[in-house]
Amino acid sequence: MGRISDNIIEINQHIPQGVQLVAVSKTKPISDIEEAYTIGQRVFGENKVQEMEDKFRALPKDIEWHLIGHLQSNKVKYIAPFVAMIHAVDSEQLLRIIDKEGVKNNRVIDCLIQIHIAQEDSKFGFSEMEALDFFQSNNSKQYNHVCIRGLMGMATFTNDNQQIRLEFKSLKRLFDSIKTTSMSEADSFNQLSMGMSGDYQIGIEEGSTLVRVGSAIFGDRH
Ligand SMILES: *Cc1c(COP(=O)(O)O)cnc(C)c1O
Repeated sequence: MGRISDNIIEINQHIPQGVQLVAVSKTKPISDIEEAYTIGQRVFGENKVQEMEDKFRALPKDIEWHLIGHLQSNKVKYIAPFVAMIHAVDSEQLLRIIDKEGVKNNRVIDCLIQIHIAQEDSKFGFSEMEALDFFQSNNSKQYNHVCIRGLMGMATFTNDNQQIRLEFKSLKRLFDSIKTTSMSEADSFNQLSMGMSGDYQIGIEEGSTLVRVGSAIFGDRH
């Protein structure tokens, strides 16, 4: 077996049941995804629409494709027919467009609302207040062709594990408060996407259900 399969086996040993590994294959060739596929990996994450579309076309159809990066409204239509989950819904306008494309494709598209938890201003997402307002309003329930499965966040890019942990804790707290109030009727609101190669262990300890791991599986990106 190769390096990629070894990495996946190793990482899976640290991931408890109930947490899903999203193998982030962005920038990596089809052959890398095929190696991961051969040992059973079926969930892959990409951050570019065109690249995800090309890989979807080239690879087996039982792969679940997760769009993990910022998504422009005008590109939703290209992935709406097949995307399994959109992790980074960062505005209500984007949600509305995903819903519209869901209607056109006669499917319900799983989405996560991205929350801005990092200190950098460059990261997209709702603030905690905006998210609470959004979920309390009826707006979060008026879309029949999206299913809001939970929240997603990216920690600050830092080596300070304590800071990362605090950011993940605050995201989990927000998730719990939404889950027990505005979304208490929605059993499907049960996903929390937090943790990447450098911090997925912390993410899992703090309640993540989806870890998005790229370089620890496929190696550094150039
Ligand atoms: C690239 C990317 C990842 C994976 O990053 P690694 O550090 O390589 O694991 C996870 N989440 C998002 C949103 C990304 O863009």
